Amino acid sequence: MMETDLQHRDRVGVQDAVLLENYTDEKEFINNLKKRFKENLIYTYIGHVLISVNPYKELNIYGINNIKAYNGKHFFEVPPHIFAITDTAYRSLKEESMEQCILISGESGAGKTEASKKILQYIAEVETSGDVKTVKDKLMESTFLLEAFGNAKTNRNDNSSRFGKYMDIMFNFEGKPVGGNVLSYLLEKSRVISQATGERNFHIFYQLLSSASDQDLEKLNLSRNFDTYYYLTDGEKGKLDFINDRGDFNRVKNSLDTLEFPESKQNEIVSILAAILNLGNITFHTVDEKISVRKPEVLEVVSKLLQCDKDNLHEALTHRTVKTIRDMVKTPLARDQATYARDALAKAVYDRLFSWLVQFINKSLKSQEFRKLMCMGILDIYGFEIFQKNSFEQLCINFCNEKLQQLFIELTLKSEQQEYENEGIDWQKIDYFDNKMICDLIEEKHKGIIAFMDEECLRPGDPNDITLLAKLDKELSSHERYISHKKADIKLQKTMDRSEFCLIHYAGTVTYNIRGFLEKNNDLLYRDLREVMSQSMNSILCEVFPTSEQNSKKMPDTAITKFRNSLNVLLLSLTKKQPSYVRCIKPNDNKQPGIFDEELVRHQVQYLGLMENLRVRRAGFAYRRLYEKFLHRYKCLSVKTWPNYHGSAKDGVQELVCCLGYTSDDYKMGKTKIFIRYPKVLFETEDAFQA
Ligand code: ATP
Ligand code: MG
Repeated sequence: MMETDLQHRDRVGVQDAVLLENYTDEKEFINNLKKRFKENLIYTYIGHVLISVNPYKELNIYGINNIKAYNGKHFFEVPPHIFAITDTAYRSLKEESMEQCILISGESGAGKTEASKKILQYIAEVETSGDVKTVKDKLMESTFLLEAFGNAKTNRNDNSSRFGKYMDIMFNFEGKPVGGNVLSYLLEKSRVISQATGERNFHIFYQLLSSASDQDLEKLNLSRNFDTYYYLTDGEKGKLDFINDRGDFNRVKNSLDTLEFPESKQNEIVSILAAILNLGNITFHTVDEKISVRKPEVLEVVSKLLQCDKDNLHEALTHRTVKTIRDMVKTPLARDQATYARDALAKAVYDRLFSWLVQFINKSLKSQEFRKLMCMGILDIYGFEIFQKNSFEQLCINFCNEKLQQLFIELTLKSEQQEYENEGIDWQKIDYFDNKMICDLIEEKHKGIIAFMDEECLRPGDPNDITLLAKLDKELSSHERYISHKKADIKLQKTMDRSEFCLIHYAGTVTYNIRGFLEKNNDLLYRDLREVMSQSMNSILCEVFPTSEQNSKKMPDTAITKFRNSLNVLLLSLTKKQPSYVRCIKPNDNKQPGIFDEELVRHQVQYLGLMENLRVRRAGFAYRRLYEKFLHRYKCLSVKTWPNYHGSAKDGVQELVCCLGYTSDDYKMGKTKIFIRYPKVLFETEDAFQA
C-alpha cells in the first residue's frame, strides 16, 4: 500500500523544525531529529540553520551526483544538506557580492571537521575550470597537513582537532577560488608532553615513527618502538589498526610538496619532531649538589637535532638567569624545575612549529590576483566543554563559545528583525538568554576574570593560584553569574572544593579548578632556553625564536589576553560577513552508528541554544516564500491562477490564498513574500498540491 503524505511525515519527520506543531516542545524537537536519524536523514533545518547529526558511518550522499543536485538550487526546494548551505552561501557571494562565513559548532566528535571538509569539497567540485586546480589542491592538502600536526586520538574522537581553525577561501570576480588563509587558535600544546590513558600525542609523531625508512630513523636517532618515548605516554598501545599512520605520513609528505615546502624545510621539520621525542627522554640527577642530565648521549642527540650548542642547551636546561636591576643572576634549578623546563621547551618548540606551518601554508595559499577578492570563511572551532574537571583551557574555550553565541543571537535576531522590517510586517520581540553579562564577567576591563588573572600574573611578591582565587572571590562574589566555593552550598546545594569556582554559562553551570591557572596564563619559557633556540642553525627554530623577543623590555601578553585579542579580531571580521550556521550533534558516546541517545542529544540541544533559535525563528511566522515561487508551485490549486496568472505575483498569491480559505490570522502579505504563521496551513496546502 502506498504511504500517505501524513504517514510519510510521521515516519521521516519534518525537514525544517519550524514546521513542528509544538515548536516549543523540546521532546518533540528531539524526536523529530531521532526519526530522521533512523532514516539516515542526518540533516534538519531551523530556518537557515543546519543541524547535522553524526551518522558514524559512511552515507552515500556526498558524491558528484549529490553535488550536481544541489548546484544552483533554491535552498528550500532540495532536502537539507551541507551542500545546500554551501551552495546558498556561494551563490550569494558570487551573485550578490556578499562576503560569507560558515560557522560550525558542536562538541568533540560531533562532526565539525568532517562538515568543514564537505564544504571545501563542494567548493572544489562545483567550479572545475583547470586553472584553479592548484589552489583547490592546496586548500585540501593544507587541511590534511594541519590535521596531522594538530589532531590526535582522544577518548571522544579518534581524529580530534586540538586547535581551533578559521579558514578563508578567496574567490575572484568570476567566483573561482584563487587563494586562502588560515588562522589557528589555542593549540593544546600540553598534549606534546603527556596524554590521558587511551589517548595519543599528535598524529604526526606516530606517522613519522611508523613510516620513515630504517635509514632515516637511524639518522634521526629514533626507534620504531613507541614504548621508547616518554612523551608517547601510552607507548605501543598507541598502535591502532583503525588509524593508518604509515599511509598518512606519505600523504603528509605529499601535502608538503603540494604546498611547496622546500626539501630543506621538510628535513628541518622532521628534525624538530625527532628532537622533541628525544628531549622527553632526558632526565636529571644531582651529583655533588650539582644538577646535570643523566644520560649525556641523549642530550647530545637532542642538541644535534635542534642544531644548537650542546653545552649551552645543558646549561639552559639546568639553570635559570634572572635579570635584576643591576645585573644578571644565574641560579641552578632543582630537579623538578629542570624537568619542568624541559617540558616547557618541548611545548614551546612544537607550538611555534605549528604556527610556523600555518604561516608557511598561508604564503603558499596567497592569491596571485590583484583584483578585488571576495572571501568565504569557515570556522571549525571547539564547542562548549563541561567536564568533571575543568581548567584554564576550558575557561578559554567556553569564553570563546559565549562570544560566538552572542554573535549568533545578535545576527539571527538582527536578520530576522531586518526581514520583517524590510517586508513591512509587525512582529513581537522575544526574550532570550543574554550572555553579554557572562562575557563581561570574563572580559570586562579592570573588573573581569581576565583582568584579575593578568594582574595576579604580574604582581610582585608570591602570586599563586590560591591568591588568584581569593582575589576572584573577593571581587566577583556579588556577581550573579559567579559562584564562590564559599557560597556553593546555598547557591548550588552542593559543596565545592576550596580550589574551585563556578560560572553560570549560557550552556550550563561549570565548575573550574584554579590549579595551574597562573602558570598556564603566564606561559613562560625561561629566557635561557629561548636564547639557545634563537641561536639554532635550524632556520625554522631561528625564525620562531627571534632575538628581538630576548631584548624586548615589554612583558609579553599573557595566554588568555592573546587569545581574547585574536578572538576579537575574528569576531569583528565575522560581523562583516553574511553568516550561515552548522550545528553538529553527537548521537552517542561510543562512536556507534544507529544509536541515538536522547539524553545526550538533549544536553547538546540545550547548549547549542537550539530551542531558543527555534523560538526566535518562529516568533512570527513558520514559513515565508517569495510570491513568484509560491505562485509557481501552487497555482494549480485555483482556477483563477491556473494555468497562468496574468497580474502581479503578489495579486496571484492573494487570489490563491483566498481560494484556499486562509484566514487573516493565518498569513501576512509582505512586500515580496508571503508569510505563513502556522505550519498546519502550509501542510494542508502542500497535501492539496500532492493530491
Ligand atoms: P573535535 O572537536 O574533537 O575535533 P569534530 O566535531 O571535528 O570533533 P569530526 O572529527 O568531524 O568531529 O568527526 C568525528 C568522526 O565522526 C569522524 O572521524 C567520522 O568518523 C565521523 N563523522 C563525522 N561526520 C560524519 C559524516 N557526515 N559522515 C560520516 N561520518 C562522519
Ligand atoms: Mg575537529
